[in-house]
Amino acid sequence: MRAKPRELAVIAGSVVLAVVLAIWLVRGLPGVDLADNFGVAVFAGYAVVCAAVAARSASGRLRGVWICFAVALVGWTAGELVYAYLDLVLHRARFPSPADLGFLLFPILSCVALVQWPIGAAGQSRLRLVLDGVIFALSLFLLAWVLALHSVYENFREDKLVVSLALAYPLLALVVLAIAGLVLVRAGPRRRLPLVLLTAAFTVIALSDVAFAWATANGSYAAVLPIDLGWVAGMVLFGAASLSSRRAPATADIAPQVPTSISLWLPYLPLLIGGSVATVVVLDGVLAVTVIIVIVAICLRQFVASWENRRLLHMVADQALRDPLTGLANVALFNDRLAHAMQLRDRDGRAVAVLSLDLNDFKVVNDTLGHAAGNELLTRVADRLAACVRPADTVARIGGDEFAVLIEDHVDHSLEIAHRIVEAFDSPFGVDGQSLLMRPSVGLAVAAPDDAPDPQGKQLFKHADAAMYAAKRSRTEGVHVFTPEMTLVYPEHSGPLQVAHQGVRGGGVAAVRLLGELRQAIDRQELAVVYQPKYHLATSELAGVEALVRWPHPTRGVLGPDDFLPMVRRHGLMTAVTELVLGKALDDAAEWLARGTPVPVAVNLFAATMADAELPGRIVAALTSRGLPAAMLTVEITEDLILPDLKQTCAVLRELRRHGVRVAIDDFGSGYSALSYLRELPIDEVKLDRRFIGPVIWDPRAGEVVRAVVTLAQTLGLTTVAEGVENAETADRLRAYRCDVAQGFHYSPPLSAPAMATLLGEETIRPPAPASVRWS
Ligand code: C2E
Ligand code: CA
Ligand code: CA
Repeated sequence: MRAKPRELAVIAGSVVLAVVLAIWLVRGLPGVDLADNFGVAVFAGYAVVCAAVAARSASGRLRGVWICFAVALVGWTAGELVYAYLDLVLHRARFPSPADLGFLLFPILSCVALVQWPIGAAGQSRLRLVLDGVIFALSLFLLAWVLALHSVYENFREDKLVVSLALAYPLLALVVLAIAGLVLVRAGPRRRLPLVLLTAAFTVIALSDVAFAWATANGSYAAVLPIDLGWVAGMVLFGAASLSSRRAPATADIAPQVPTSISLWLPYLPLLIGGSVATVVVLDGVLAVTVIIVIVAICLRQFVASWENRRLLHMVADQALRDPLTGLANVALFNDRLAHAMQLRDRDGRAVAVLSLDLNDFKVVNDTLGHAAGNELLTRVADRLAACVRPADTVARIGGDEFAVLIEDHVDHSLEIAHRIVEAFDSPFGVDGQSLLMRPSVGLAVAAPDDAPDPQGKQLFKHADAAMYAAKRSRTEGVHVFTPEMTLVYPEHSGPLQVAHQGVRGGGVAAVRLLGELRQAIDRQELAVVYQPKYHLATSELAGVEALVRWPHPTRGVLGPDDFLPMVRRHGLMTAVTELVLGKALDDAAEWLARGTPVPVAVNLFAATMADAELPGRIVAALTSRGLPAAMLTVEITEDLILPDLKQTCAVLRELRRHGVRVAIDDFGSGYSALSYLRELPIDEVKLDRRFIGPVIWDPRAGEVVRAVVTLAQTLGLTTVAEGVENAETADRLRAYRCDVAQGFHYSPPLSAPAMATLLGEETIRPPAPASVRWS
């Protein structure tokens, strides 16, 4: 709420002019008569302009407030001018006069304006405000009456109109002041400055009014100059209040405001004092004591009632910002904190990070175990999330199974926090007597201080969401950090996205049933393996086969990997499937070997299993138990799966190669292609992704890429395999590029084990090159 320099200059100017006027009047400089008559009028006019300016720049309710003030001040100014006319032109200045109509308009309209002042989103009862003001003012009046005003009344006993008016001014001024004070203590801290100035203005005006009434009673008004100066000071303060209100932020509070404790007891304090003093003055003995006790009791009772209300309001206000189920922050609170953090970013140059998290397969839990269990799971998840962050961070439930975390300081730790959150899901959640392993999709976005302005943080939140959906789409686990390409995939995404269960048509219940069937099929070893032959391009001899998993489903027909591997990944069945495929493939390879037609087999591995340090041991054991040479097995890994934990993956790969197992990098060129991997990773073979191979015959650039990769791989001593070769023309081109091996429908589709046996009856097989020892 910092005032602009221009407004500060105007306010300073008005103060200087007021001081000049004061000196003029006090010193009785030439023209003092004019200055006396028009001084207040000029400043009242200035206050009108200021209030009008404030009204113009205000909006909503506040605009009405300032219009009301402007009209009130017009009343005052008119009163001053009429009075000056009576005094200077007609020489008939007296009290009361028509000028008093204008003067009376000021306090009355000021009351109306103050009562309209917007305080708190929930709004306080305006009637209560007026009543509080009346209690306050009348109590003070009571006090003033028994102590002083009483004598004013005595002096004017003859003229009732005069005495009523003389008393009406201080009384009304007190009511205005009381209401201003009450509004001030109730208003939120964000827009306090104008109210502070207004209250100061009304204080000075009320003091002058009381002094005026007093002076009038004693017939000595003309001698008391400070009264006029008090009004001038009031107008100067009024102007400052109007101008400072122009900068008050218009943001509404997001929760109902709890009244400050001072606003609870403040209205009763004057009643207590005024009532007691008046009682003591007017009554005596038992009566006085009884009345005082009654007054104190009533005040206490009211106070207690308000206190209880306040407590309830506190609870309501808190609840308006909490998610009722998990107790985490809700969207409203999250957005508020985010906007605040973004403001700090602009002001202090601090980065802000937002993490977006969504549970995979939450719907499955809800559909199978029921909503109560779903809710229980969400609560557990909320607890774990809250345990992962620091107290300064905000964890919110955005809706359904979507959560968000706002990280405001030490943003450089945000990735660490994100990883910690993912790890928190490693152990299962105990829900409804079952233990459920849930996986989250986690997206992280950071807004650096010099990034594009984003005052509400909406963009940042969208980015975190985009990263989260990228995580959902991808097969890799772990944290996905936002990159600009992600917005290309989900340009206009906002709000929760319905992610369908891949490969499963027909909603949640079907998905649950299918999951049960899948577990059963794995347990009963019902998944099948088919083999797709690979051929040496140079000699057209069989180079080996790739084992591909199939699920012969009782009602849905044979399901391919795309139909059920996502489910395998989501429900942590990867190790079981790998063991199954590896076992079957090696059984078949052992049989082919026993028949004298040895065929090297390649088996695909999942990302998650690459972090398993015991994998090499199990694979080697599976080979030796069947009497198979390690070189008969190739493991295929996809390059994007290597990324999550490069070090661990390399360790596992090295161990496999040490035993003689071959390692192929699969789908090369499809994901996070980095030629450097070819050099850095301990591998023997590169499989060029089929999306690369198809276009080589018509897209010269694809051809160049394939040729470059093949050349590089050759220099590094790696075997190159082209996938998805669908026609002779492609095969010819690949041969020209000196690619080693080809696989694809042009040669053969994946074959069942019996079909393989038939094929082997006709084929001649060239033994594979032994695994190289370059990186061991
Ligand atoms: P991949 O490792 O790239 O396997 C090759 C895929 O390309 C196979 O699909 C195969 O049928 C298909 N294909 C073969 N020749 C051609 C061709 O000429 N044109 C076209 N357009 N496609 C061809 P499939 O069997 O559906 O397997 C899909 C993916 O599933 C595999 O891609 C692999 O990543 C994964 N997968 C399959 N079996 C397993 C397994 O046992 N374990 C693991 N972890 N993943 C597996
Ligand atoms: Ca493969
Ligand atoms: Ca592949």
